[in-house]
Amino acid sequence: MNTQPALWESLKKELKNVPKLRNLEIHFHPEKCKGVWQCYNVCPVGCWTPDHSTRVVVFHDKERCIACGACVLQCPEDAIELK
Ligand code: SF4
Ligand code: SF4
Repeated sequence: MNTQPALWESLKKELKNVPKLRNLEIHFHPEKCKGVWQCYNVCPVGCWTPDHSTRVVVFHDKERCIACGACVLQCPEDAIELK
């Protein structure tokens, strides 16, 4: 029996609770963004979308964020905080 899909569904449910457990959320400062797309490249759950017309990234789907901090670490402009 293949249990991987069930495990994945269970893991996804648990991951949704991580930001609440840590009591952390993303605070994005678009005025600092220089559009290097590192956040978009590293986010494991696709919370960021490049806007090539403005060269400023768009943060969407706050509910999907698992508060891993990868985007915060990778942003060279300190445009993202997790607090
Ligand atoms: S903290 Fe992690 S999951 Fe949340 S937006 Fe940044 S990279 Fe994506
Ligand atoms: S990594 Fe920072 S500067 Fe680059 S697109 Fe994301 S928020 Fe903007």
